Amino acid sequence: MKVTFPHMGDLWIIIKTLFETLDVEVVVPPPNSKKTLNLGTKLAPESACLPLKLNIGNFIEAKETGADTIVMTGGIGPCRFGLYGELEREILKEAGYDFDAVILEPPDGSIPGLLKRIRYLVGDEHSWVRILGAIRFAYTKSVTMDRIEDIIHGARPRLGVEAEVLYRSAKDKLVQATSYAGLEQVVRGLRTEVKGRQLARIEQQSGLEVGEPLKVGIVGEIYTILDPYSSVDVEEQLGQLGAHVDRSIYLSAWVAKHVFLGVTNGYKSLKPYHKLAKPYLNHFVGGHGQETVGAVVKYARSGFDGIIHLFPLTCMPEIVASSILPRVQQDYKIPVMTLIVDEHTGHAGVQTRLEAFVDLLERSRHQRSILSDGERDTSMAAR
Ligand code: SF4
Repeated sequence: MKVTFPHMGDLWIIIKTLFETLDVEVVVPPPNSKKTLNLGTKLAPESACLPLKLNIGNFIEAKETGADTIVMTGGIGPCRFGLYGELEREILKEAGYDFDAVILEPPDGSIPGLLKRIRYLVGDEHSWVRILGAIRFAYTKSVTMDRIEDIIHGARPRLGVEAEVLYRSAKDKLVQATSYAGLEQVVRGLRTEVKGRQLARIEQQSGLEVGEPLKVGIVGEIYTILDPYSSVDVEEQLGQLGAHVDRSIYLSAWVAKHVFLGVTNGYKSLKPYHKLAKPYLNHFVGGHGQETVGAVVKYARSGFDGIIHLFPLTCMPEIVASSILPRVQQDYKIPVMTLIVDEHTGHAGVQTRLEAFVDLLERSRHQRSILSDGERDTSMAAR
């Protein structure tokens, strides 16, 4: 059995670790690219959402290097994700690609169902203790990856392209790490490196005023916000434009909620979002529409300067969220920019929009500081 799976950002690091620890042969598809998307777009229905098209492209590219079994997650509720596994298998079969498909998320909410599928993939040689140990280690690796990304989000506006070099190096070390101590070491090493370079920069810039970077939250459909190819590198672009980015969903929080059914929280848990979204949207709308609304409230209350709402064309849950966000925006006076992506989205167009948005946020921060200076002067004069 040669197992493959769809890309979703750096998810491949976690799945590769899980299966290789259990001696399952893994074929990691080539990174998402124009070729991947073209392959998927040719076979998928035109109205299908972008992640489905990329998934199909991933599977075809993995088949070319010998994969015969697809592993993917399922879903529930009024969104097409729940149908993806079956739909992709049918599309590929019709096109002459024969795969065995194993869907890993417990669509019926049953952990035993999930464990049964894992047992099918790993065979009978390993004990459950070993399998659960491998799952725990892979999950911890995903939390570590999220911590790394968070550190890089903070480093980009201060270190520019240097942060990308540190990011690549930390990811390479993460792929190689085979122990819990090794994972901790990657985070510690990255923190020290970032801190050292930031201090060096501050020394170089002594005498110049260095302001706090803008804070921008990225919310929206999980695949698009986690996958840099789909998001047209929106996190990196914003970071290089001087913004400190945070994202509403990190991979381990998604795994904790959907695969481990909330037994654990993951990095930056999704749990608070439902309560925060309640005044605007108090029920599940599929995907992460409710989380999107809750995250905008969270960012607005935490003093963020602006929000990017990112999702693929025709994504139903995010269309619902986007019809609600103007109310949140009005209540909290926070700018929200909507970015909808599909196979025609280009880097230059997104870059121009991001530059304009950052410019707007800078001007509005400047105006706020003038107003608060004015208020302070008036109150001092009145004393
Ligand atoms: S959340 Fe949106 S993009 Fe993702 S599968 Fe559902 S409809 Fe498609």
